[in-house]
Amino acid sequence: MDARPAKLELRAITHVFGSGRDIGVTAVDDVTIHVPDNRFVSILGPSGCGKSTIFNIVAGLITPSRGQVYLDGVNISGMVGFVGYMLQRDLLLPWRTVLDNVILGMELQNVRKGRARERALPYLRRYGLAGFERQYPAALSGGMRQRAALLRTLLYDTEVILLDEPFGALDAQTRAQMQQWLLQIWADFNKTIVFITHDVEEAVYLSDQVVVMTQRPGRIKAVLDVPIPRPREPAILLDATFITLKQRCLELLAYGQDAGMPHDAGANGVPGGA
Ligand code: ADP
Ligand code: MG
Repeated sequence: MDARPAKLELRAITHVFGSGRDIGVTAVDDVTIHVPDNRFVSILGPSGCGKSTIFNIVAGLITPSRGQVYLDGVNISGMVGFVGYMLQRDLLLPWRTVLDNVILGMELQNVRKGRARERALPYLRRYGLAGFERQYPAALSGGMRQRAALLRTLLYDTEVILLDEPFGALDAQTRAQMQQWLLQIWADFNKTIVFITHDVEEAVYLSDQVVVMTQRPGRIKAVLDVPIPRPREPAILLDATFITLKQRCLELLAYGQDAGMPHDAGANGVPGGA
């Protein structure tokens, strides 16, 4: 575990959908996560294990049944506007140009339109959208649309950014390019990123730390550090360390529902054998 104090901390979060006479669905069960400043942390877990619910809680859109969210030590549970959030199905507005889509977050933060455009333009040019600033989203490829949506999230002026499966719908080659692009842009932006994926290779490749979850109700199965130096090139996919970590994640996911493997007692006091 990283010894630095947490930038973002999820403390014993449990969330049950439905209440009263409705039988509740426990989506997330006792999830504690420490995200250190400027780190890239992935949450890896099977579909339906509560990953997006966790993000909705961190973003303040859902108040958890139990537990709290802290940002720099301040309880922000149930409060919106403290983190940038790219939803799993984040869409660009078809009636706004690429530039005006990218400045949407800044506009919500009351930055004047002219000023926001001025700020966004160099980023669009530097990060692969030169020439498309005045186009509408329909003119863009899938990868470009994701770049625009990611830039919009990054330009929203918060230190913590949540990305929910941003590359899930892309083909393998575009996805690999986008991962490379994201690492480059992250190095420039000085942000703390929490990234959701169900793709093991993507989680290990991008992250400093991978939080592996069980099937629903989502609990933390293990927290793995990724001691691979940066900058990372695609060639690391063949490194022994990379392959071992990938294997470890696959085993943890395969054992997600049963008693698990005792030596996987991870950080956060999660007993591997529980
Ligand atoms: P993931 O993102 O890991 O695929 P979700 O967080 O979207 O999982 O969902 C976790 C579980 O909670 C799922 O079983 C889902 O059906 C349930 N769920 C999510 N949102 C709601 C809701 N608004 N009401 C009831 N159940 C929900
Ligand atoms: Mg989801």
